[in-house]
Amino acid sequence: MSDCIFCKIINRELPSTIVYEDDQVLAFRDINPAAPIHVLVIPKRHCANILDPATVEAGLPAALFKAVAQVAAKEGLEERGFRTVVNYGRDAGEAVPHLHLHVIGGRALGWPPG
Ligand code: AMP
Ligand code: ZN
Repeated sequence: MSDCIFCKIINRELPSTIVYEDDQVLAFRDINPAAPIHVLVIPKRHCANILDPATVEAGLPAALFKAVAQVAAKEGLEERGFRTVVNYGRDAGEAVPHLHLHVIGGRALGWPPG
């Protein structure tokens, strides 16, 4: 997707601070962090959102969850905990139409979300 900002990050056309990468997944720091640690985990192949059928193809969910675990380990979040969120649509405030899992931690997080 030539006009997708996350595809541009994958293609190194836009800068990012990469935390983890493998053949299917890239993880990088959120530009506007909601907590001391805020990393976005995205598929390298463009998927629009969690309802896009491409999201569940070719082992991608497993790759995404594996990457979340890698990020949690690298960021030292395993002991104290963290939250993984996927926003979809207007009510959730989804802003970027390329599937992304937020990994948020480094402070106590309120629940339920506001
Ligand atoms: P969402 O509201 O779930 O669609 O989240 C989109 C997230 O992408 C927000 O937390 C933004 O701060 C983040 N974001 C947008 N542009 C960039 C960028 N160029 N680099 C890193 N994070 C970004
Ligand atoms: Zn994209």
